[in-house]
Amino acid sequence: MAKTKVSIDREECISCESCWTICPDFFEQNTVDNWSEVVEKHRTGGNPAEGEAPGELLDKVQEAADACPVQIIHVG
Ligand code: SF4
Repeated sequence: MAKTKVSIDREECISCESCWTICPDFFEQNTVDNWSEVVEKHRTGGNPAEGEAPGELLDKVQEAADACPVQIIHVG
């Protein structure tokens, strides 16, 4: 299944914990700045703000994006 691009405007994250609670296979909390980041396995070019979601995670990634209170997770 095709992968879907995902990006996070990390500097606008308010660390509400929604995304990494809904989809911990894709999102995690950065231990230094506390903002959301893409887990290393799914990152693009080592950038914690960008990644590619495999098809089996896409529903949960989209759910996390929809639930983000500041709407900074972009899918597709
Ligand atoms: S849901 Fe949005 S505000 Fe909340 S931790 Fe994730 S990126 Fe940050």
